[in-house]
Amino acid sequence: MAVKAYDLTGRTAFVTGAAGGIGRATAVLLAGAGATVHCADLDRQGLHETATLIKEEGGTARTHHLDVTDRAQVGRAVKSCERLDVMAAIAGIMHSSPVLETRDEDLDRVLNVNFKGVLYACQEAARLMLDRNIRGSIVTMASGAVDTGGPGLLCYGAAKAAVVQLTKTLATELGRYGIRVNAVAPGWIRTPMTDRHDEAAQAHTEAIMARMSPLGRVGEADEVAHAVLHLASDASAFTTGQILRPNGGVAMP
Ligand code: NAD
Repeated sequence: MAVKAYDLTGRTAFVTGAAGGIGRATAVLLAGAGATVHCADLDRQGLHETATLIKEEGGTARTHHLDVTDRAQVGRAVKSCERLDVMAAIAGIMHSSPVLETRDEDLDRVLNVNFKGVLYACQEAARLMLDRNIRGSIVTMASGAVDTGGPGLLCYGAAKAAVVQLTKTLATELGRYGIRVNAVAPGWIRTPMTDRHDEAAQAHTEAIMARMSPLGRVGEADEVAHAVLHLASDASAFTTGQILRPNGGVAMP
């Protein structure tokens, strides 16, 4: 790694949602920057593929097959880390339904994964960092949906808004210990989550999203991973409680 502030050699990172999309890109990038990366996800096969990618590039990876909505599973996995410098809480699911058709079970499921799953990862990471006196970095995954809203986005947006609140609150509580907490709020990123499984529908959706960006295109997972690396590393040593928006410059209301 050419720039020392981005060098994570000797550090340990834990990445949830590491089996695909933004989580996989982040795990691979953090490993490339020198970190030992603990990859966690529900998807066993995807986890194996991410770990293989990391190892093929000479990095070090461990895998944890877990559900982020299970506090005990998250706790056991985090406590098994020899040390923890970086938590990247990325696992999430998409849900879309009009407000008037939203059922309690939709709301519960999305809040459980997208908010409580992030909360458990942050709590476990923070406890371990405090116990071991580590001045670590916690990075959460919010979304541009928090800024823009949009039809169907009640459950998803509410969970992501809660993630932003968690991030800002935790940053104020942990700053005195040298632990930083920041969020990344991506725009439309090409990942399995945004895959329409139909070429024409995909092109149509991406064209609409691209028109909203001054850069005239949608984003790639690797571009979000670089935002996470920035917040995870010493390059952002004086940054906490912030939201970084890799969104192609989409204008916020
Ligand atoms: P993705 O579907 O490609 O990856 C999400 C990963 O999370 C998957 O590997 C999945 O198995 C895992 N996961 C889901 N539920 C889980 C659970 N209960 N326990 C453990 N793992 C679980 O999606 P992505 O696009 O890479 O999204 C990653 C994060 O970025 C999400 O939080 C998403 O909300 C956020 N985000 C994505 C976009 C986008 O346009 N793709 C935009 C803004 C924010």
